[in-house]
Amino acid sequence: MCCGKNKYSANIRVYLIPFLILYTIKIYIRWELEILIEKKNALSLDEQDVLKDFRKEFFLPHDKMYMDGNSLGLLSKRAERTLLDSLEDWKTLGIDGWMNGNHPWFTLSEKIGEELSELIGALPDEVMAASSTTVNLHQLVSSFYKPEGKKTKILADELTFPSDIYALQSQLLIKGYNPEDHLIQVASSDGMTLSEEDIISQMTDEVALILLPSVLYRSGQLLDMKRLAKEAHARSIVIGFDLCHSIGAVPHRLSEWGVDFAFWCNYKYLNGGPGSVAGLYVNNRHFGKRPGLAGWFGSDKNTQFDMEHTFVPASSAGAYQIGTPHVLSTAPLIGSLEIFKEAGIERIRAKSLQLTRFLMELVQQELLEFGFVIGNPDEDSRRGGHVALQHKEAARICKSLKELGVIPDFRAPDVIRLAPAALYTSFADVYETVNVLKRIMQEKHYEKYENTREVIA
Ligand SMILES: *Cc1c(COP(=O)(O)O)cnc(C)c1O
Repeated sequence: MCCGKNKYSANIRVYLIPFLILYTIKIYIRWELEILIEKKNALSLDEQDVLKDFRKEFFLPHDKMYMDGNSLGLLSKRAERTLLDSLEDWKTLGIDGWMNGNHPWFTLSEKIGEELSELIGALPDEVMAASSTTVNLHQLVSSFYKPEGKKTKILADELTFPSDIYALQSQLLIKGYNPEDHLIQVASSDGMTLSEEDIISQMTDEVALILLPSVLYRSGQLLDMKRLAKEAHARSIVIGFDLCHSIGAVPHRLSEWGVDFAFWCNYKYLNGGPGSVAGLYVNNRHFGKRPGLAGWFGSDKNTQFDMEHTFVPASSAGAYQIGTPHVLSTAPLIGSLEIFKEAGIERIRAKSLQLTRFLMELVQQELLEFGFVIGNPDEDSRRGGHVALQHKEAARICKSLKELGVIPDFRAPDVIRLAPAALYTSFADVYETVNVLKRIMQEKHYEKYENTREVIA
């Protein structure tokens, strides 16, 4: 009797221990299998990818998964070549590079404008490569913000990029208005996305101009530009978009939608290089007007060198250029945009959606248990080119990712932006990224860092 209990626990040990061992092995095998299936899946998606050959054209950081193409796109061999061509022109031709170079500098901005026009669905002369993003924003708002009578306010949103808000505040101050009551910023209900309904409901008869992002830089939400332009025009309000996070990732139909103006940077998805010259679009119904900030490169090209003091604006978006083009910061775009033309923006969008969908599926399968939340909208029609993963430890998870070979982007307070670029990111990279994230969470690898951001994050 005394030994019954012992015998019983001995039995338990005999059965339980092998059972536990087998169960653990089974879980492990299943986990490995799932992961292996996903890896196979990634490899076969890469195999079928119609854009796969473009990856070879880029300088990819060695042994790293580059998931930051929406902050600074990578250098391509063609962009390197066209930059070196322009340097060679300078070296061998001096001032004659303006007219006789490989890519004559005098008409370079117009030429790039034509190439860019296909990416945003505009006419070739509605687009120009010029200045920087924020300078173009100042240029366009100073041209299109015409307060009159009751219509004196500017409508923007509370989630937009800070530079856009600073510029709008300056433009209001220049015209003598107080941004406190003249800049309306549509609120977000969840801190990540905006509702088109809310925006439209704020298009009152006091609003003179609307400026919105096409894709929100943090959450990756793609706004319905067509609908917003239609609603704005129905109320006689001028509307412009900041395309920084959509150009090169999403097709646009700006002319067809009748959008008044737009601007963007060319160093994100378009891979034009750090500080690359930016872009602007003006609908042709506005041609012939004097731009807010006139400069001699906005002149009609045939009369520019007459050196008269009467400004004759170019009868195209070229009027919105200001000074001498930044040739060496434009030249990489010649090569880069050749690639976009060959790949085609529709195919780029299709692959981009497939990459981000694959990423979201892997996150759902592997990472939700660790407290990640997908912060971007789920529908294809409402997302741009990146996935926004929210996590309260985001800042230090990003530091771990960098140490372990994945280059992400952190946006305060809690967003890890992952942007697989269709031209050079593979499905295997996406798979590997999720694998690394999972390891970081299982091993609590991030705990060795502080949860604060770096200077550039
Ligand atoms: C990157 C970005 C900018 C950058 O402006 P710069 O003048 O090129 O520094 C502006 N707006 C948005 C939405 C951006 O994402």
